[in-house]
Amino acid sequence: MRALFAALSRCPHCGEKPAGPDGPCLPCLARSWQAVRDGDVISLGTYVGPLGSLIRAAKFAGAERAVDHLAAPLARGLAEAVAAEAALERAVLVPVPSHPSRVRQRGSDLPLRLAQALARLNTQHRVARAVVRPRPAPPQSRLLRRDRHTHVHAAFETPARWHSRLRGRRCVIVDDVITSGATVRAVADALALAGAEPSLVVAIARA
Ligand SMILES: [Zn+2]
Repeated sequence: MRALFAALSRCPHCGEKPAGPDGPCLPCLARSWQAVRDGDVISLGTYVGPLGSLIRAAKFAGAERAVDHLAAPLARGLAEAVAAEAALERAVLVPVPSHPSRVRQRGSDLPLRLAQALARLNTQHRVARAVVRPRPAPPQSRLLRRDRHTHVHAAFETPARWHSRLRGRRCVIVDDVITSGATVRAVADALALAGAEPSLVVAIARA
């Protein structure tokens, strides 16, 4: 009986690692995912089912290791994109900057963690934390009416020290989940303003 229980609590694929909530262990589950490219976005699919629950779990401290496994199929997808377009060979990986209070709360920064895992797997790419969230602006009421418009749209910026390094450089924006695409577009705008060429997006999933 004890032997049977031990067998059941192990992954049905490799029989070595402990089983995950859906049966297979995480590395086996990650191997079963394939990156899909849809336009300029490479992801593992939509934010539902086992992929959705994995990402939700990974957002909390201690479970972000899941991202390292999910990075493997994404790294293969990125390598295929590079093979198809040589100009992407030296592209830098730019993580979408997480909100500092979120990182403090959860203890994990998934876009950064994913970018670092991709750079470990596809070593020609470097991680460049070149886009930041500007410091909180003064409350809207204290801004002049004509400044309000720019205030709302300046969600991200590329600090001046990055500009010379990024000029003409291809960039791959890395995020955990893409929802409306507005965040990724704002990051792309900040990179383009600095003279870089945002070319691709790699995300674990699309909502
Ligand atoms: Zn396994």
